Amino acid sequence: VRNLKKYFPITNSLGNVTGQVKAVNNVSFEMKEGETFGLVGESGCGKSTTGRTIMRLVEPTEGEAIYRGKDIYRLKGNELMSIRREMQMVFQDPYSSLNPRKRIGHILEETLKIHHIGNKKERMERVMEMLNRVGFQSEQYYRYPHEFSGGQRQRIGLARALMVNPNLIICDEPVSALDVSIQSQVLNLLEEIQEEFKLSYLFVSHDLSVVRHISDRIGVMYLGELVEEAETDELYGNPLHPYTQALLSAVPVPNPAVKRERITLKGEVPSPLNPPSGCVFHPRCPHATEICKQKVPVKKMVAKNHAVACHLYV
Ligand code: SF4
Ligand code: MG
Repeated sequence: VRNLKKYFPITNSLGNVTGQVKAVNNVSFEMKEGETFGLVGESGCGKSTTGRTIMRLVEPTEGEAIYRGKDIYRLKGNELMSIRREMQMVFQDPYSSLNPRKRIGHILEETLKIHHIGNKKERMERVMEMLNRVGFQSEQYYRYPHEFSGGQRQRIGLARALMVNPNLIICDEPVSALDVSIQSQVLNLLEEIQEEFKLSYLFVSHDLSVVRHISDRIGVMYLGELVEEAETDELYGNPLHPYTQALLSAVPVPNPAVKRERITLKGEVPSPLNPPSGCVFHPRCPHATEICKQKVPVKKMVAKNHAVACHLYV
């Protein structure tokens, strides 16, 4: 993903554009095949919009998303369709992402129909196979979404994503709406399936322990920008960006012998409608200096596989 921007126009009651929300602002990162890249940050930081823009559920304002050498945003027609087949999405809300008027077998079959895969019999077999894979019996085929719990629906969502044998699944807060006890079941299933189907995950979540559990590498977002990126252990062991440091200081440490001081940030996250000048974090940063107000810090590598956008690291 290169210099991705997604700005949403703000209009007044007369329909005139009066400003823009910079939901995703110049985000760049790479994902390797087979890895899980976590995108973490507080609500409204642009992580979901980043995922949805890569899927082209929303069109970008600017930027590139190169998948196996092809810029997704330049593709049309059949080429776009075949890339769509390789990328699937699992949504946050298992209650609204499945059509309540359709039986789950039909919901799963629909994905195959869209991509013109198989005849009726083959499609049915594939649906049964995927339902079984995520832990359901074949007789569940004729049931409706409301007959299932949140965790079960999320497994159905995953089965739907798997129907077309994708390479990449964008998971947008897939366990956030679930009870903690159910969360680990779904996370374990995601991990099993990743091995089995050789999947890559872009895993969007605000939950730092969930992201730590599942990700190989993590990108931290703040106010539409990707401020730090590192391998999971490196990020948690050696957070460099002052925002990441504050975010992680709020997470309980598994080992009580390790003392970590809680960093409390002043103020609220500013509005993405009028983001601060220079470093967007400067009004809340305990280390801000004059240059931070003026100059946007550029993300750069400062250690092995560890990049940060902050003037403290030059
Ligand atoms: Fe803080 Fe300045 Fe670094 Fe931004 S660039 S995080 S304001 S020290
Ligand atoms: Mg979100």
